[in-house]
Amino acid sequence: MASFARSLRPLVRTLPPRTQRRVAIPRICHNSRLLSCTVFRRQEVIDLTSLAPTPISHFSETEHMMADSVSKFSQEVILPKVREMDEAEAMDPGLVDQLFEQGLMGIEIPEEYGGAGMNFTAAIVGIEELARVDPSVSVLVDVHNTLVNTMILKYGTVESREKWLPKLATETVGSFCLSEPSSGSDAFALRTKAEKTADGYRINGSKMWITNAMEAGLFIVFANLDPSKGYRGISAFIVDKDTKGFSIAKKEQKLGIRASSTCVLNFDDVEIPRGNLLGEEGQGYKYAIGILNEGRIGIAAQMTGLALGAWENAARYVWNDRQQFGQLVGTFQGMQHQIAQAYTEITAARALVYNAARKKEAGQDFVMDAAMAKLYASQVAGRVSGSAIEWMGGMGFVREGIAEKMFRDSKIGAIYEGTSNIQLQTIAKLLQKQYTA
Ligand SMILES: Cc1cc2nc3c(=O)[nH]c(=O)nc-3n(C[C@H](O)[C@H](O)[C@H](O)COP(=O)(O)OP(=O)(O)OC[C@H]3O[C@@H](n4cnc5c(N)ncnc54)[C@H](O)[C@@H]3O)c2cc1C
Repeated sequence: MASFARSLRPLVRTLPPRTQRRVAIPRICHNSRLLSCTVFRRQEVIDLTSLAPTPISHFSETEHMMADSVSKFSQEVILPKVREMDEAEAMDPGLVDQLFEQGLMGIEIPEEYGGAGMNFTAAIVGIEELARVDPSVSVLVDVHNTLVNTMILKYGTVESREKWLPKLATETVGSFCLSEPSSGSDAFALRTKAEKTADGYRINGSKMWITNAMEAGLFIVFANLDPSKGYRGISAFIVDKDTKGFSIAKKEQKLGIRASSTCVLNFDDVEIPRGNLLGEEGQGYKYAIGILNEGRIGIAAQMTGLALGAWENAARYVWNDRQQFGQLVGTFQGMQHQIAQAYTEITAARALVYNAARKKEAGQDFVMDAAMAKLYASQVAGRVSGSAIEWMGGMGFVREGIAEKMFRDSKIGAIYEGTSNIQLQTIAKLLQKQYTA
């Protein structure tokens, strides 16, 4: 069955000599990590005109290694725990430790801070591969890498980078806290308040639906320092789990991604030092918009991986195991057409995901691409995981294997990091701007 994935998986990219020199060959670390490498970190807009165009599905050697090692790790370590974690509605703490050991919690964190020093697309590859087996583990890694680590990397002071990045790469899970009971899609209507103290800031309020909250030691919290300025008063802060006044009020019970924790948080006179401000006061809304634009590519990758995992699971069954009317059920033309249609849609979603990731890395405008990738990948995940249950008949519907779980897990793709309507709104707004005289 590995061959199904192989045909979808990008091939190693053949780079022209100039670019090839910039990408170091990945190495296996002495500390038993599967993943670690150094790559040329691209901060600026890259001139692509001298590069020969390559298929969007091509990977660099680093990214290819990421896909292979995460795929192996997912099959060998995660898969045996998936059903148990879903039923228990809890992440196995030992598995979280292993994610750190594998270098999957510091993918883009530079090696000087103990991270893997890889590129954004490598993170996307890892998120997709994890979701093929368990979208809950995938979102834990996704939020930690694409939202939390990136916020500290981009906006942390030298001191907070030195303090937090080594921890985030090796032992401390992070959460990203924007949503509140009365502000979801309208995120910047948030009511959590921050006020200045002699040494820093005091935070009061509550957050809702916060991913990773049960496992996290660090929380990035958006709060308004000056509500008279509306959303321009919003700032971003780092809150340590052990800070007095911080508490987890409730852990939600959910339809899907049940092993991923989702919690309500309370902040009662939480006092933090001045150095825990991320970036500049009043810029929090801009940071949140920027980070979530990138983060959406991660959710799109999660949904693409989910769709492929659901498809592979069903394909294995109908083409190898289940016979009716004297033949394998996957050999009926009515089934084959559906299976082929689903695979085509997964491949299209995948192209959107990697196009958005590559554009982001090249410093190009990727906002519409990210919105389209998330919108479409979540639709495909819902359709394919639903069809996969039907292809498997009763075996797809029972709580064995991963078929019904993938279907439940797919629903969240249309909700978090901006609902499907919000993605459509973004796409339409940008198109209208482009086509208005
Ligand atoms: C499992 C889970 C994990 C999450 N993790 C996090 C996290 O880690 N951090 C975090 O900050 N948040 C998190 N969230 C919150 C998530 O981002 C919000 O749920 C999401 O943004 C939608 O907000 P809402 O639930 O309030 O829906 P609402 O905003 O109330 O939307 C309800 C419906 O109205 C529609 N709608 C709203 N506004 C418009 C509009 N202008 N035009 C058209 N339709 C509209 C929506 O599309 C939706 O269909 C998580 C949520 C869940 C369920």
